[in-house]
Amino acid sequence: MQDSRPRIPPYGTSSKSVVLSTADVVIVGGGIIGCWTALRLAEAGQKVTVIERSEIGHEGSGRNRGNVRVQLREAAERALIERSLNLWQEIEDTARKTVEYRVTGNLLVSYDATMAEDFCIEAEDHRALGYDAHVVEGDDLRALVPGLSQEVPCGFLTTQDGHVNGQLATWDIASRAKAAGVQFLRGVSVNRIAVDHDRVTSVLTDAGTFATGCVLVTAAGGAAPLLEPLGLKVPISLALHQILVTEKLPHVTGPYLRCASPRISFCQTAMGSLLLGLGPARTIAQGDPQKVEPEKIAAIMAETTRLVPTLAGAHVVRSWPGLFDLTPDGRAMIGPAAGVDGLWVATGFNGHGMSISPAVTESLATMMTGVTPAIPLDAFDPDRFEHPIQADEQDRPKSRVGHLGNLVAPPI
Ligand SMILES: Cc1cc2nc3c(=O)[nH]c(=O)nc-3n(C[C@H](O)[C@H](O)[C@H](O)COP(=O)(O)OP(=O)(O)OC[C@H]3O[C@@H](n4cnc5c(N)ncnc54)[C@H](O)[C@@H]3O)c2cc1C
Repeated sequence: MQDSRPRIPPYGTSSKSVVLSTADVVIVGGGIIGCWTALRLAEAGQKVTVIERSEIGHEGSGRNRGNVRVQLREAAERALIERSLNLWQEIEDTARKTVEYRVTGNLLVSYDATMAEDFCIEAEDHRALGYDAHVVEGDDLRALVPGLSQEVPCGFLTTQDGHVNGQLATWDIASRAKAAGVQFLRGVSVNRIAVDHDRVTSVLTDAGTFATGCVLVTAAGGAAPLLEPLGLKVPISLALHQILVTEKLPHVTGPYLRCASPRISFCQTAMGSLLLGLGPARTIAQGDPQKVEPEKIAAIMAETTRLVPTLAGAHVVRSWPGLFDLTPDGRAMIGPAAGVDGLWVATGFNGHGMSISPAVTESLATMMTGVTPAIPLDAFDPDRFEHPIQADEQDRPKSRVGHLGNLVAPPI
């Protein structure tokens, strides 16, 4: 099966008509992080150019499932997700066309009845943080997912979580950025960032050299080859996921549904189709092709129909692969790179960058204009892998229960 996502090239110039010039800031990568930071910097009066080797939103930002998850969120990301919930709603309310943002809630279910106790503890912890969280069982559970298997005794529901269409959101933000004056170069690959006396001087692309004193690398899986020659340690590994899309179906689930084990998860879009995936993903090497694996389709559908037997016979109408850019501690690398003036990084979002992108880019752009952001990004310091902190100092997910803790990385 081919990658059958729509290909609409709506922004900027193609490589054939590139005119190189100077910019205050060059951003490498036209995903949600690059586009949204560009918009914010342009609104702050900066002259910004985004250089994208493919199309806007062609990689992770156009291939995700758009889960805007509050549930089991790592402490370092809590303020970011809370701020992002408001910003997503603002984007939906002001978008020229919908970005399909909706508050749906998140429901984690288990075949294992003994997890009910663990879910109770998590629900209590989430309520202590101010979230609306419950354990659901019996009829209440089946009211949320009417076709759910009788094998499933319990679930853990949080209600503030949302869902967005990542492709539409990236295009919406890119068109706002273009209207704010951002220049987009599509189909242009950045090959190297040039530095002189520890200062960024230019960006070398396959269409020529671009003079600038400030570069932000938001290139996900393409970040390491640009940053490591400059001395930054970028221990990012790539995991290949696969998404399935079903035909339009009658109501299956309101909340985004995740199973603790096996890790099948899906949401139902506003259009009625399901977006399905199954973890854990296979690690691949830099440069390996992203390909749909037909045998995975059968495996995902088998687990899906075990969880929701009424889905037997549902047709899969398309499928696509997508990469998670994973860091060793599950947190993104965001901020200035030490040792090179003018070099900034925002990469390694571990499969949850779409959800927190509104608040991440708000804080990042604020820092780039020399102001301390309301939500600090210290926990995401890109230099932390140079001088790793001790395990007991690390702010790792603190689920009180082992098997829930395992779910936290990589969560989508
Ligand atoms: C299957 C899947 C499911 C996901 N589900 C969720 C979810 O439910 N919720 C959630 O919050 N997140 C999810 N994510 C993660 C989310 O999509 C990403 O974290 C987010 O989109 C990252 O945005 P980005 O801008 O950093 O990267 P990308 O969108 O990957 O953008 C990086 C861009 O950089 C470009 N680039 C790379 N190298 C170069 C170069 N040398 N020169 C020029 N351009 C370059 C690439 O072409 C690419 O367009 C999922 C991801 C996948 C793959």
